[in-house]
Amino acid sequence: MDDSVRAEYTACRGVNGRPIALALAVGSTAAVGLAYFEGLPPHAIIAFAIMAVVTGVGITVGYHRLFTHRSFATPRPVEWVLMVLGCMAGQSSPFFWVATHRRHHKHSDQAGDPHSPYLLGDRKLGFLRGFYHAHGGWVYVNGFVYPRNTVRDLTRRADFAWIDRHWFHWYLLGMSLPAAAGFLIGGTAYDALIGFLWGGPLRHFAALQVTFAVNSVTHLWGSHPHDTGDQSRNNLLVGLLALGEGWHNNHHAFPYSARHGLRWWQPDASWCLIWIMERVGMAWKVKRPKPAPAPHASVPTVV
Ligand SMILES: [Zn+2]
Ligand SMILES: [Zn+2]
Repeated sequence: MDDSVRAEYTACRGVNGRPIALALAVGSTAAVGLAYFEGLPPHAIIAFAIMAVVTGVGITVGYHRLFTHRSFATPRPVEWVLMVLGCMAGQSSPFFWVATHRRHHKHSDQAGDPHSPYLLGDRKLGFLRGFYHAHGGWVYVNGFVYPRNTVRDLTRRADFAWIDRHWFHWYLLGMSLPAAAGFLIGGTAYDALIGFLWGGPLRHFAALQVTFAVNSVTHLWGSHPHDTGDQSRNNLLVGLLALGEGWHNNHHAFPYSARHGLRWWQPDASWCLIWIMERVGMAWKVKRPKPAPAPHASVPTVV
């Protein structure tokens, strides 16, 4: 990126990149090693699962379907909770995440896509380089900067700007909660440590791989029922692990839709949550594919 273009970009606040990757590698290794040699109390496994799911919801329902695509509307306190949970996931600030993902949809698998497995700028990528670039290498290419004009709908909100400015503090809070819970439940320093390692770095590392897989795996492997003009794919494994985000070809066909799994056999946990929120009045203006897919029929592509 040349300097004139970079000047229009805003740097994402907080600690990013290689130091975090190194800390995650050390923390995850320690989590597995300590569990093997010293034991793994149930509360650490529960902390891992709960933190993975709630921060995952922050990303899929919050960062992605609510803030990037405006697939539904919800009260402000719910917006705040979802944005904070997304920050706790450790996938950088909400403004950076949303700007990056909007760019992905605008240029999908074309020049300008920040994490296509096929291209880097105008350069074609071989399979392994492409997989690495799409899966996580892309974050080192342009740095953690984003054009503010693509997220004006968010930056003009003072409450969102405050949460975004402090995203790294929310991340650290998400790291500390499992340690505090471990100490309260087990009562020893080891309980706090193993709770931290499993609910913190190991959970962050594992969840990151799942999110990265949406960028890499679901642009490489799976079915492609909709002619979306890109290489997006529907992938059952990613659909299950990523709370419904693996129905990625459906998503590229209907990016505004709050629902990604369009068939009964396409599990979409994030859609289930939004559907429940709608039923109890916590979500409205919930967008669905138009026209609605008929049962047992192929889903028509809407452009
Ligand atoms: Zn995509
Ligand atoms: Zn999207």
